[in-house]
Amino acid sequence: MANTEQIYVTQPLLPPLEEFLPYLEKIWDNKWLTNGGPFHQQLERELAIHLGVEHLSLFANGTLALVTALQALRITGEVITTPYSFVATAHSLLWNGIKPVFVDVTPGGFNLDPAQVEAAITPQTTAILPVHVYGHPCNVDALQKIADTYGLKVLYDAAHAFGVHYQGKSLLRHGDLSVLSFHATKVFNTFEGGAIVCPDEKTKKRIDDLKNFGFADEVTVTAPGINAKMNEVQAAFGLLQLRHVGNALERRREIDGLYRHLLKDVPGIFLPMAPDDTVWNHAYFPILVKPEYGLSRDALNDALRKNGIFARRYFYPLISEFPMYRGLPTAARSRLPVAWQASQEVLCLPIYPALTDEHVQRIALLIREPGA
Ligand SMILES: *Cc1c(COP(=O)(O)O)cnc(C)c1O
Repeated sequence: MANTEQIYVTQPLLPPLEEFLPYLEKIWDNKWLTNGGPFHQQLERELAIHLGVEHLSLFANGTLALVTALQALRITGEVITTPYSFVATAHSLLWNGIKPVFVDVTPGGFNLDPAQVEAAITPQTTAILPVHVYGHPCNVDALQKIADTYGLKVLYDAAHAFGVHYQGKSLLRHGDLSVLSFHATKVFNTFEGGAIVCPDEKTKKRIDDLKNFGFADEVTVTAPGINAKMNEVQAAFGLLQLRHVGNALERRREIDGLYRHLLKDVPGIFLPMAPDDTVWNHAYFPILVKPEYGLSRDALNDALRKNGIFARRYFYPLISEFPMYRGLPTAARSRLPVAWQASQEVLCLPIYPALTDEHVQRIALLIREPGA
């Protein structure tokens, strides 16, 4: 009954269980469960090398990393951010008592529009919080130029950007820092987890203190920090994932290529690409469903569901539509037309390493002939 098998938008990367058991035995032997244990130290080192970044601090999840990143740079007042993201991006601002200022995304793309960022700056603005949506790099050069001109910090929500390289170096090396998520649904997962990537040791020390209650040493507490530490089981799993993530990215690239081949000439179906000069991670496979397709995005989504294919309208609704944001003057739909349209047209198709060519063919055929 292959045709009734259910396929979800993603499936976590899980290496063979027997490969994980030796790590657990080590933890049971040394009885160091958390607080910067040996696996935590090793994963910080290996990830920094793997990703090609200077410093990296592990977290229990990406949202705590975002909240802590804003505190590490002492961000206050107003922060310019995008409505086209997962809700945690803006929530991290509210958790810090910061006012989100929403700005539209670039026409033809999914990321914050630098021209509109500049127009939204006020005397209260202290930082920009852009998102590399789907792992597509933001216009990092234009954003940095604005930040330098106006004395603003740039914190990237890089939850989708594991392993992405842009213009010959890690995308995570841009801005003042970048935040990763290692949630189960991401390209690289530690069940739950995350990290902050930063360029200097002093910032890493402050981040490390903040994720551990603000302890600077055994008897000194320098800030009202939180408990956001990654534990040893998560870190051990991360080390095992690292051995498999290369193959996983390669398989994602193949699936992406197959979808593009099978869907390239479907009227009204657009297949967005990462910008030139990007070594992409194929974290998602977004398509845009335009009026010429004949069916609306939601009708296509329903048709797929009837056939056991669970795509995702990601991101819908916009963050600015949720009750805690929609009263903000910058949340008005009329100010965010590009993001709004994307939220109406995007459908993310299933993509994960265990997805087979037959699955992709089945999904593509349903999109080509939704009534069949
Ligand atoms: C997944 C995600 C987060 C949150 O990460 P968690 O690890 O789930 O807390 C933040 N921002 C974006 C864009 C995400 O996709």
